[in-house]
Amino acid sequence: MKFEKSQKLYEKGLVNLVGAVNSPVRAFSSVGGNPLFIKKAKGSKIVDVDDNEYVDLVVSYGPMILGHRHKAVEKAAKKALKKGYSFGASTEAEIKLAKIVCDAFPEMDKVRFVNSGTEAVLSGIRLARAFTGKDKIIKFSGCYHGHQDALLVAAGSGLATLSLPGSKGVPEGAVKNTLIAEYNNLESVKAHFETHDDIAGVIIEPIGGNMGVVIPQNNFLKELKEFLETKGALLIADEVMTGFRSMFGGAQEVLGVTADITCLGKVIGGGFPVGAYGARNEIMEQVSPLGGMYQAGTLSGNPIAMAGGIATLTELKRQNPYQKFEEVGQILETILLAAAKKHNVDLVVNRFGSMMNPFFTKSKVTNFEEAQTSDTKKFAVFFWEMIKNGVFLPPSQFEAWFLNSALSDKDIKKISIAVDKSMLAVSKMK
Ligand SMILES: *Cc1c(COP(=O)(O)O)cnc(C)c1O
Repeated sequence: MKFEKSQKLYEKGLVNLVGAVNSPVRAFSSVGGNPLFIKKAKGSKIVDVDDNEYVDLVVSYGPMILGHRHKAVEKAAKKALKKGYSFGASTEAEIKLAKIVCDAFPEMDKVRFVNSGTEAVLSGIRLARAFTGKDKIIKFSGCYHGHQDALLVAAGSGLATLSLPGSKGVPEGAVKNTLIAEYNNLESVKAHFETHDDIAGVIIEPIGGNMGVVIPQNNFLKELKEFLETKGALLIADEVMTGFRSMFGGAQEVLGVTADITCLGKVIGGGFPVGAYGARNEIMEQVSPLGGMYQAGTLSGNPIAMAGGIATLTELKRQNPYQKFEEVGQILETILLAAAKKHNVDLVVNRFGSMMNPFFTKSKVTNFEEAQTSDTKKFAVFFWEMIKNGVFLPPSQFEAWFLNSALSDKDIKKISIAVDKSMLAVSKMK
């Protein structure tokens, strides 16, 4: 397999782009080698500039849940394109997408569209503060909520439990209202409430997806919500990854928990830049122009992006692929574990519906600390062997793999063969 053109573009890209990428994980830093440059994609397949074709388990980190270039989505976007790109005024499409979104989340009366998951979360946090009149926010170590200052703490970095900025350029003042708790540990949340009386709410990925996949254990989310109610604090569900993916109504639907504020992104735009935050009326009425919380966006509710979102969610609802995701996910899980056993490699697979990933470790992974026990060198070898065998994975041990509804039996077969070869390569490491 040749990567010559990718290599050339990478070198060219280094001149005027930072690391030749526009988002750091794309740089392949944690697996080594040069990043792949993509030429095109269709259905379950993605093709790089050297014409290597891969079964795509990245799907743009989640958004392409129907596979690439689904007919209905492409048609809707093209149709919208012909009417104009952006107006700085309201369109009917925004109302349509808002209805689809509010119908999916039972306690969501109103929604506000933004352009990314980061924006959705930073606005959701501001809203929690506006509504409660309190400043402090609890986040869980290992959860990622986009790159806003206040939440770049223990966001999958090494600074596990300290309220110290996880990035240069974030002033300590920006994180002084951020408290860190441990995932799957309600006591660590309660402890903060004992020492602080100004906590607006708790933000959580209802299924952890940015420290690898980490699943809430034993009603953790339900108990968290019940506890927060006794304290008058809000539960902010960051469903940017899980919304419309775990189930149409997100992880909340699967887990039977209702958040006060829900943040969305990724699948909601079907590959176009859309984010959203929503809540019940009394909370959303804080948002300008109804209330005093300011939040705005020149391109928010962009008509092409709205068309892409409406078509994606409409098709998703029609396909209702969640049972199939569960079955395919189960098959892939079995394939991974069987190959690991055959080649004598320590492996744990965490999976929630169509989100999964293997950890190269012996110990169970229920929080960030345990995720850190995995052998990232093994993952790097596994990753490149998968690439060479035609499967595109996220280039990091701590990113989830995503299924899409265009995956065929043939694709699964290809993944299965690749997994076996890749696990063999891992077993031969010194
Ligand atoms: C991807 C992600 C974000 C950030 O969304 P962007 O669109 O990349 O800004 C926030 N929260 C979670 C849980 C995510 O997975």
